[in-house]
Amino acid sequence: MIPVTQAIHIIDSTVVSQRIKKVKIAKSLGFILAEDIFAPINMPSFRQSAMDGYALKWSDSTTYTVTEESKAGDAKHIAIHPLEAVRIFTGAKVPDDADTVVMQEHVTKRDNSITITKMPNKGSNVRPVGEQVSTGDLVLTKGLKLNEAAIGFLAGLGIQRVAVFKTPKVSILVTGNELQKQGKPLKEGAIYESNAVMLKMALQRFGLTQVKVFYAKDTLKATKKNIKRALEHSDVLLISGGISVGDYDFVKEALGKNDVDELFYKINQKPGKPLWFGKKDQQFVFALPGNPASALSCFYVYVLPLLKKCSGYSDYHLPRIQAKSDTDFKNNSGKTLFLKASLQDGIVSVLPSQQSSMLNTFASSNVLLMVAEHVETIKKQDLVSCINLECYGN
Ligand code: AMP
Ligand code: MG
Repeated sequence: MIPVTQAIHIIDSTVVSQRIKKVKIAKSLGFILAEDIFAPINMPSFRQSAMDGYALKWSDSTTYTVTEESKAGDAKHIAIHPLEAVRIFTGAKVPDDADTVVMQEHVTKRDNSITITKMPNKGSNVRPVGEQVSTGDLVLTKGLKLNEAAIGFLAGLGIQRVAVFKTPKVSILVTGNELQKQGKPLKEGAIYESNAVMLKMALQRFGLTQVKVFYAKDTLKATKKNIKRALEHSDVLLISGGISVGDYDFVKEALGKNDVDELFYKINQKPGKPLWFGKKDQQFVFALPGNPASALSCFYVYVLPLLKKCSGYSDYHLPRIQAKSDTDFKNNSGKTLFLKASLQDGIVSVLPSQQSSMLNTFASSNVLLMVAEHVETIKKQDLVSCINLECYGN
């Protein structure tokens, strides 16, 4: 059995192969950029008016004659002479001879003549060429998570495709003779199978939607065969159940028979002690305890970080927040605890139903309160470390 810190260290030091693909920008949302982006054009690429108004060559005069019009999209060259102005609109090309745009709210117009009631400073309301970025500038850096603003920005630069890190293909293998599908009354001794959909949803929240689910009865033969099948479809395989030390827990042995090498097994933590992690070439396997709360805790603390790492994130652990405990409590277990808890306004409350089989209060917890194995006492108002479950994909 290893401490939590060592298990996390193993995840951190595991080398993952990050694969890259080129995608259309509209398919890149939420992916990590795998290349530096240099501006292919100046933005703006011509001098643009920032206002609806009048373009002119700045002078002391307040009266100008309006000669022509420049609207957004017009390309023609317009000459302006002293004391002439051009009617102009936002986004339109500012004539080369003009240096200033006067907003229309500061102008009174009569026939072809305008009188400026408030002359702006010379150069006002003209967006210079390359004001935002210049051709060749490094504008987005490899490692950025692409959001809608980044994608809009890329579109504005005329970029159609970008290189992003591929996300891993994940499969789930559910083990357990007692598991029953929803839809019929429970048979004696059975429980409804819930880990597959829970883990699928946890993966979906990270953006992974193409997840295959395999099932195996509690026999060595079925477990071995289904691990083999699932590995044919996966970069990362999550196995639910069958990793404890019971007579019908065959996952560890079946993994060995499939040549998956163990990287760790059993962590000094509660919940989730029997977690197993291993590797076969470039594929990873997590064997999660079957108890639902254990499986989900392990997902947040170990699985998600590995998935994020494979997907190009450099900061891949869920963020931790310091908060004040609203109560005294003791940790006499000698284990690191991950407690289902609720954090509001900097105060964290441990929720009831901490047992590893129970999801009822996990449903309303927004953090896991982490108590290190050597910490025996926490006093009300003490600062404690909480894993933020809400800020998940960043
Ligand atoms: P195991 O890790 O296989 O020993 O299972 C531990 C506990 O979790 C047992 O009470 C199982 O019935 C329960 N369990 C295992 N797999 C699932 C599942 N897929 N959905 C819900 N509960 C499960
Ligand atoms: Mg089982």
